[in-house]
Amino acid sequence: MHWKQPDVIFACSLSDFFHQDADPWRDRAWQVIRRTPQHRYHILTKRISRVLSNPEKCLPPDWDDEWDQAYRHVWLGVTVETPQYYWRMDRLNRIKTTLRFISCEPLLEPLPDLKKHGLGSSIFWTFCGGESDTRDPRPKGGVPKQWFEEIRDQCDSVKVPFHFLQTGGTQRCTCGCYSRYGCRQLSGRWYQQYPMPTLIAEGPKYGKRQRKRVLKVLKNNNVDTYKIPVQTEQRRGVQGQTDRILLLNQISNKTVSNLQAQLGNTALRLETWPYMPP
Ligand SMILES: [Zn+2]
Repeated sequence: MHWKQPDVIFACSLSDFFHQDADPWRDRAWQVIRRTPQHRYHILTKRISRVLSNPEKCLPPDWDDEWDQAYRHVWLGVTVETPQYYWRMDRLNRIKTTLRFISCEPLLEPLPDLKKHGLGSSIFWTFCGGESDTRDPRPKGGVPKQWFEEIRDQCDSVKVPFHFLQTGGTQRCTCGCYSRYGCRQLSGRWYQQYPMPTLIAEGPKYGKRQRKRVLKVLKNNNVDTYKIPVQTEQRRGVQGQTDRILLLNQISNKTVSNLQAQLGNTALRLETWPYMPP
């Protein structure tokens, strides 16, 4: 309630929103969520069975009627670390929500059958990474990149945005990605794809000052944004910054060309996905 600026809120990224210990305060949390439609709420759980067996405890009483109205800014996701947990996807698919997603973090085994469990047909966002807790590196040397690339290729084949965090482990990466937990790149690039329109700005001299200008123009066009940190991406021939600005509402191509005209040697492109929440 205190944030007026639209934001993306990861509810309980460390604990679990549907844990029984949260029963006493969950109703109040739902009331706050209902009253703040300017934010996006991403709710990730391992306790999806509990949501199905105790909907009256876990979901607000008006969920069935309002999931695509009063709660359309709420996304639900499950954790899938190994094929043993594919069933969580099947259960998630039985719950109505604007957008379903999966988190494959920490990834512990290859996941070759995501499409059989709804990826691309009912699940529209994947993010994954290896264990980033260095006290408990599983597996020790980080996760083989191939496992992530296999997930990425499945996402590509059904046009589902794919977000990659890090391979995990305890090694600092020396490729230029500045990660403390293994590498943050696959096939030499970053994967930070979201199921919402994203404005990508790239250029050899792109930096904070240009970002300020981009944000100002977006604001003047009544576009709400959620920004993630500017990344340094070293690619063959280009050494500069890549900025990904998530847009919380639609933007026209005309606005993009207007922006482009003002920004000179910064390249702008709009990334959208087949599925976009309303
Ligand atoms: Zn790296």
